[in-house]
Amino acid sequence: MSISYPVSRPSITALEIQYVTDAVRSGWISSLGSYISRFEADFAALCGTKHAVSVCNGTAALHLALLAMGIERGDEVIVPDLSFIATANAVLMAGATPVFCDVDPFTLCLDPRLLEGLLTGRTKAIMPVHLYGHPADMRAIVDVANRHGLLVIEDAAEAHGATIEGQPVGSFGACGTFSFYGNKNLTTGEGGMVVTDDGLLAQRCRLLRDHAMSGQRRYWHQELGYNYRMTNLQAAVGCAQLDRAEALLGGRRALFKLYQDRLASHPGLRLNRTANWAGNSFWMVCVEIDGLDEARRDAFMGLLKQRGVDTRPYFHPMSDMPYLRAADTPQAHRLSPIGLNLPTYVGLEDRDVDAIVGTLVQTARELSLIA
Ligand SMILES: *Cc1c(COP(=O)(O)O)cnc(C)c1O
Repeated sequence: MSISYPVSRPSITALEIQYVTDAVRSGWISSLGSYISRFEADFAALCGTKHAVSVCNGTAALHLALLAMGIERGDEVIVPDLSFIATANAVLMAGATPVFCDVDPFTLCLDPRLLEGLLTGRTKAIMPVHLYGHPADMRAIVDVANRHGLLVIEDAAEAHGATIEGQPVGSFGACGTFSFYGNKNLTTGEGGMVVTDDGLLAQRCRLLRDHAMSGQRRYWHQELGYNYRMTNLQAAVGCAQLDRAEALLGGRRALFKLYQDRLASHPGLRLNRTANWAGNSFWMVCVEIDGLDEARRDAFMGLLKQRGVDTRPYFHPMSDMPYLRAADTPQAHRLSPIGLNLPTYVGLEDRDVDAIVGTLVQTARELSLIA
């Protein structure tokens, strides 16, 4: 009998089922209901922000945040080139232009030393991504933003629970956004959140997520709005996940330690690095093999899959997509084809990590990727 490991799997317990059953039974199945306000309050507390506005997914959260901050056609928003495509797409959805910044190979996040070289008269905002759970260097980024009068939006979709010197990500910029997709650190199935200390910004997000309907005059819409609401059912799942946040977030850190321990004697398989100022939330365990190219990486992944270990490749540089403008980002282009993500989810035990690492090392040796 062969065991097989997916890359990701949500952790759903009796508590999620209890809350979601309660929500369905209550009749509050759309976007009103007590789980919505509880989820928003609990999530704001996790992030240490004054406000949290729930939405239907993480891409909507990014779009809403950009709109609420007044980003529009003609504006440029600086994003790291190595990210999930939603980061760049949200900028396009707001009518603005993404400008691609290279990444720091140590953190895999936007390299703040390159920011000033990318500024133009049209630059309005910087949108760092906390890739695979490692926080971007927010203090350096906010410093550049303040010196040049730019807004900062954190794409924290992959980094619930990550910190910088103890302070949660999402609380450094004007606002931060999160995703609760099924494979994220905390999930609601599909879902998203905008967090901020700015009451007016939160109010503007609430207005725009609900068709921009006037609070004074029903069915009066002063401007273009969206239906970006989260349902009470999703929020019920989210409340249970937040009640279990310590186990879910701590579980990922413990899992990384297991991988690190088992792979310590294989320096050719390089795992996630963590800066000394960073609290990594390890959304995905990363492995990089120097000298690899995309074809050999994909062949490696294919063989692992046959042997019961599912993995996924690093993101492509977004600037390589045919509808986006090419960028000179050597680090993103060097890293993208040499990286893959290993099974990362709460529920993997010591013996599972042993089995995964055994298959990984043996297969890498067979293909002469490591000694
Ligand atoms: C998952 C993700 C998103 C989008 O979230 P969805 O909920 O899938 O829309 C945005 N940015 C990054 C970096 C992500 O990983």
